[in-house]
Amino acid sequence: MNQKYPSALLENAVNEFAKLPGIGRKTALRLILHLLRQDDATVDNFSQALVSLKHQVKYCKVCHNICDDEVCSTCQDKSRDSATVCVVENIKEVMAIENTMQYKGLYHVLGGIISPIDGIGPADLEIESLVERISTGGINEVILALSTTMEGDTTNFYIYKKLSPYNVKVSMIARGISIGDEIEYADEVTLGRSILNRTLFNESYRI
Ligand SMILES: [Zn+2]
Repeated sequence: MNQKYPSALLENAVNEFAKLPGIGRKTALRLILHLLRQDDATVDNFSQALVSLKHQVKYCKVCHNICDDEVCSTCQDKSRDSATVCVVENIKEVMAIENTMQYKGLYHVLGGIISPIDGIGPADLEIESLVERISTGGINEVILALSTTMEGDTTNFYIYKKLSPYNVKVSMIARGISIGDEIEYADEVTLGRSILNRTLFNESYRI
C-alpha cells in the first residue's frame, strides 16, 4: 500500500531516491530526512556534485574509463606497460584491479558484457574499438578479466574470435575466483594472484 506523505515535495524526493538500486522507499525517506537536517550548503554541494558529474564526466578516448580529460591518466602514464591491455566489464573492475597493485598495463572498459536476455549485443559494447586498438599494433597481450558467468564466457569467446586474425596473445585471469563470483567482490590478494597466474585463453578452453 502506498504511504501517504505530508508533502508533495517530500514524496517527489522519495520517488527519485527510490529509483536507485537497492534503495526502497523506507530507506529513501530516511536519507531524505537526514539531508533535510543538514545545512543549505551541504545539500547544495550534494546535488551539485551529481549534476556536475552527469554533465561534465568524460570517457577516455582510448580505454573508455571515466576521466576528467580526453585521455585518462592511466593511458597517459608512460611508466605503465602499454603493450598489455586488460579487458574489463566496467569502471568498478578497473578500480578493483588497481587496488591489487599487481598490474601495470593498460585497460579497455567494455561497458558491460554480452547478455541476450538484457538485449545487450556486441555492438552495444566497446568491442570494435578494442579490435581497432589491437589492429594499430603495439599491443602484445590482451588479458580478459570478465566475470566468470555464462555471459562473461560468451563475451570472452567473442573477443577471442575477433582478435584471432591479429598477432596478439590472448590470456584470461586464473579462475581462483569461483564460478559466478563477480570480480569486483574478489579480495585484493585473490584478484592480484589471478592476474599474475593468468593462462592462455586457448589453453583454458582447449580450443
Ligand atoms: Zn584511458
